[in-house]
Amino acid sequence: MTAPIPKPWIMDIAPYVPGRSKTDDGRVVAKLSSNENPLGTAPQARAAFDAAHGSLERYPDAGAAELREAIAASCDLDPARVIYGTGSDEVLHLAAGAFAGPGDEVIFVRYGFAVYEIATRRVGALPVIAPDRDYATDVDAILAAVTDKTRIVFVANPNNPTGTFIAREEIARLHAGLPKWVLLVIDQAYAEYIDAEDDDHGLELAKTKPNVLVTRTFSKIFGLAAERIGWGYASAEIIDAMHRIRAPFNVTTAGQAAAIAALAATDFVDASRAHNAQWREWFAGEIEKLGNAGLRAVPSKANFVLVLFEGQVTAEQAYHGLMDRGYIVRWLPGQGLPNALRISIGTAQETQGVAAALREIVAG
Ligand code: PMP
Repeated sequence: MTAPIPKPWIMDIAPYVPGRSKTDDGRVVAKLSSNENPLGTAPQARAAFDAAHGSLERYPDAGAAELREAIAASCDLDPARVIYGTGSDEVLHLAAGAFAGPGDEVIFVRYGFAVYEIATRRVGALPVIAPDRDYATDVDAILAAVTDKTRIVFVANPNNPTGTFIAREEIARLHAGLPKWVLLVIDQAYAEYIDAEDDDHGLELAKTKPNVLVTRTFSKIFGLAAERIGWGYASAEIIDAMHRIRAPFNVTTAGQAAAIAALAATDFVDASRAHNAQWREWFAGEIEKLGNAGLRAVPSKANFVLVLFEGQVTAEQAYHGLMDRGYIVRWLPGQGLPNALRISIGTAQETQGVAAALREIVAG
């Protein structure tokens, strides 16, 4: 051996491709590629972030005690059972690291969040892809994929990149159909965009069942994507296992302060939810009007819409056409969606602008 050899399963990982932040010519009219909050960050969270920058030489609170208390208070949870990560990405990795390894199987849906496959392969486990049902999570397909080697099922609800959502009865049916040894991860990165009466009761399951982990993030509705903070909730035993492999001091001092303030800024969160619902419906309606050109919006409950291109104009052409006009969206050929663009809901102006640009592109 002449050089260190990476583990073969690591080399099977297709590197994550993030949403672009610049157009080809550097002119950006709107960045609608990463499902961020177009209204920004709550002023209180910004102020807490700025104020927390006092002592850069000290490590952050490794136990994130105040942050866990604030999270627990906001969702009626036990703070001892809250885990936190450098984005919910890290929490997903911790789940895979603690509960899957070489020879094990991990199930997720075909058009699922890219990190599930990376987290699975990273630990040498085998990804098992369950087919979708018209782009949505198909509980029966997941249950049919379970074997005695299954260790984890990852389900995002709402799902990214499709925006689809399954009702609490479906989540309950999925949980009830899984063997007790399988960890069900309900990834709720977009949960705050759901109306309270439609809540999928994932946290209720995580509170009461020994094999359910719910993950959440501050990157989306709370407008703190730059700070990289996510969290998870599960039984004390699951959380204990995950803490053992968590990097110490994984959430920054300013990030913890900003997240605590963001949780208290309920007006900002409510306004963000209302803005998103209004413009998501409007945007989906505009896509509907382009139906004769083969465009179709997958029904979304998240802060983005997956637009399918089933006519003359391809998603690739539209992607470049939008880029030329300064609109950055997500084209996902690497995720098996060469005929689709995922477009985040922006400000009113951005959303109207991207719809007008699409109309122009489709009209040729
Ligand atoms: N889960 C889903 C479904 C997501 O879409 C994202 C962000 N793209 C994440 C988790 C991770 O977000 P973060 O690491 O910023 O918390």
